[in-house]
Amino acid sequence: MEFNLLADIAEYCAREKKDMAQAMLDYEMKNKHLSREDVYSGLKRVLLTMEDSVEQGLTQMVISPSGMLNNWAKTVYNSKTETLGPRLKKAIARAIAVGEVNACMGKIAAAPTAGSAGIMPAVLVTMIEEHNIPREKLLDGLLVSSAVGLIFAKNSSFAGSEAGCMGETGSAAAMAAATIVYLLGGTNDQILEAVGFALKASMGLVCDPVGGLVEEPCTTRNAVGVANAFVSAQMALAGIKSLIPVDEVIFATKEVGDLMSPRLKESGQGGLANTKTGRDIQKRVFRTAE
Ligand code: SF4
Repeated sequence: MEFNLLADIAEYCAREKKDMAQAMLDYEMKNKHLSREDVYSGLKRVLLTMEDSVEQGLTQMVISPSGMLNNWAKTVYNSKTETLGPRLKKAIARAIAVGEVNACMGKIAAAPTAGSAGIMPAVLVTMIEEHNIPREKLLDGLLVSSAVGLIFAKNSSFAGSEAGCMGETGSAAAMAAATIVYLLGGTNDQILEAVGFALKASMGLVCDPVGGLVEEPCTTRNAVGVANAFVSAQMALAGIKSLIPVDEVIFATKEVGDLMSPRLKESGQGGLANTKTGRDIQKRVFRTAE
């Protein structure tokens, strides 16, 4: 069983009269020789890890060894000033929470990478709180996100060193956008539109972590990725269509990644890592570590 494009998965769904979660369940079972129970027990472990990492970041003292991150998730969560009410504030605090736990070597679920691990958990926990989505249904939402991950990995790259942050937080936002649309009852076409919107918003985003540590700007980019996911899902659910089909958008991310200077792809030689302050932080952190 092979899917090379998101359009292939949509075609399979139409032919077999299945939704995207069921298509990915078939894919996992056939290609990995797993039972239905195996797949769902793996998904449950992933969901639990995601929920735990959000909880930890929001309740425990979280200061990264470099000192760059210092309880930012709680700071945002408890902020009295709300640009768009409590929902957005709490959602982005959840993404930051996972970024902080990751920076402190805590357990996270890389979805798809450690650097972008805050977006999916923040979206899933928010969907429970705001839409009363049953946890069992979230497992299907994870399956839908895996469809996006599968095709993105085949036709572009998750690696910051190849596709910049577009490949990490961009793909995570696209996976999360697909999940939101699915959980809110959107069609397969709407799921694909949401993925396209999220990726287009991330096109060309560079990978430039200060000091080579997955902290700055990674953590706040996860927060923005959550907003991207909800905005993209909202547009798709409203019926707006991307002029460029999603599989072509994914191929475009590959082209853009290839065209980006190596200085902007996790080398520490460009972008924020190469600012005066970024270099000063790097010197301070690594002097302290010696
Ligand atoms: S800036 Fe680089 S290391 Fe940080 S999340 Fe983005 S891709 Fe990952």
